[in-house]
Amino acid sequence: MQKLTSEIKSAEILCVGTELLLGDIINTNAAWLSQRLAELGISVFHQSVVGDNPERLKSELTEAFKRADLVVLTGGLGPTADDLTKETVASLFGAPLVLDEEALDFIKSYFKRRGIEMTQNNEKQALVPRDCIVFHNDCGTAPGMAIEGGEGEALEGRAAILLPGPPREMTAMFIKSALPYLKSRTSSALVSKNVHLIGIGESTAESILRPIIDECENPTVAPYAKAGEVRMRVTAKGKTTEEASAMCDEVIERIKATEVGKYVYGIDAHSIENAVLQKLIKEGKTISCAESCTGGFIAKRLTDLSGASAVFLGSAVTYANEAKIKMLGVKAETLERVGAVSEEVAIEMAEGIRRTLGADIGISTTGIAGPTGGTDEKPVGTVYIAIATDKGTRAKRLNLSPQRDRDYIRTVSATNALALVLEE
Ligand code: ATP
Repeated sequence: MQKLTSEIKSAEILCVGTELLLGDIINTNAAWLSQRLAELGISVFHQSVVGDNPERLKSELTEAFKRADLVVLTGGLGPTADDLTKETVASLFGAPLVLDEEALDFIKSYFKRRGIEMTQNNEKQALVPRDCIVFHNDCGTAPGMAIEGGEGEALEGRAAILLPGPPREMTAMFIKSALPYLKSRTSSALVSKNVHLIGIGESTAESILRPIIDECENPTVAPYAKAGEVRMRVTAKGKTTEEASAMCDEVIERIKATEVGKYVYGIDAHSIENAVLQKLIKEGKTISCAESCTGGFIAKRLTDLSGASAVFLGSAVTYANEAKIKMLGVKAETLERVGAVSEEVAIEMAEGIRRTLGADIGISTTGIAGPTGGTDEKPVGTVYIAIATDKGTRAKRLNLSPQRDRDYIRTVSATNALALVLEE
């Protein structure tokens, strides 16, 4: 069998399993593998799914090898009769299956460790294509493998990696065995960094950054929008991770130097609540919330993060006017005069929770999340957010689209309230 001499530059992912086609399970393996291959600088242009059928698998593989240097397969490596991935790949590569004594020992010790009797069909899993590189399975029984360069021109310089279907086994085997194998067959690294923006729309950010986006080929710059936030993803391909990372940093500095710079709240910040939490921890400040339309959502997002207890004191979900009066000291007169969804009430709510809990910062939300409850003056999507600190209190009105659903309006309101903390 010919061995691989050239570098692996492109790959396809081929997941085997009828249950994937039936929609019984979600193809998380493909998503996870795509990310890992991208990190290695290996381009993935196709993903496919095929049922437990050797003819269709063979034809899918043949097509994939016309386009890519490498095909990564998951699933169909088990001991049962419908697990035919290994047999099909071996036949395509013209490699007979041979018993791998080490793989058999691994399988036997797996059963022994668990005190289960090993059935005869499990021995089938120790059969591997001749000359392949075997990946032992620490979390299950089926070994994985890499097969290189089959007979004939179509498979010259091609490789297949076979991994088990169960995500826990697949990810562990990839990290332990497939990753070092792939690193030895690639000479580039791909690094992506995300520039997180808040307070600016996707199209405005994109038009300001258009010259940079157009000019940059490596790194590339691409915008993504998510409920109330924009992310610019900068991706560079370099010889090493360090080189690619430095290339990204250079472009990020250029982005920050534009008009967009003042909307940047973090680089690879994970989420705005994380950026807020880190900032509060760094500055030793505490926060409290008074939430009406967000119904505790800000508190949930902050307390989803470990370490929140160092800065988050608490949140009052004050939906009814009575609750705003009793728990936050909002004046009945204010509520009567301007209504609960107003700048004044948002300010009194933020000041009230800050005072009640003795926090450095109080933030509040009050608005109309819809789909009902809007008026001409205050349509669905009208939300007031406020922040109270020792420097004073200020509020902001958000005019979110009334066409958006309740979930979106609440999410974006919470995000903007958190953004006020960073602004302050
Ligand atoms: P086993 O030894 O368990 O039979 P296998 O390698 O033959 O392993 P499959 O039988 O194809 O793998 O799949 C086993 C289980 O792994 C599936 O029932 C499913 O729960 C999970 N699985 C398989 N493929 C995927 C995938 N692409 N994404 C997410 N989960 C998957």
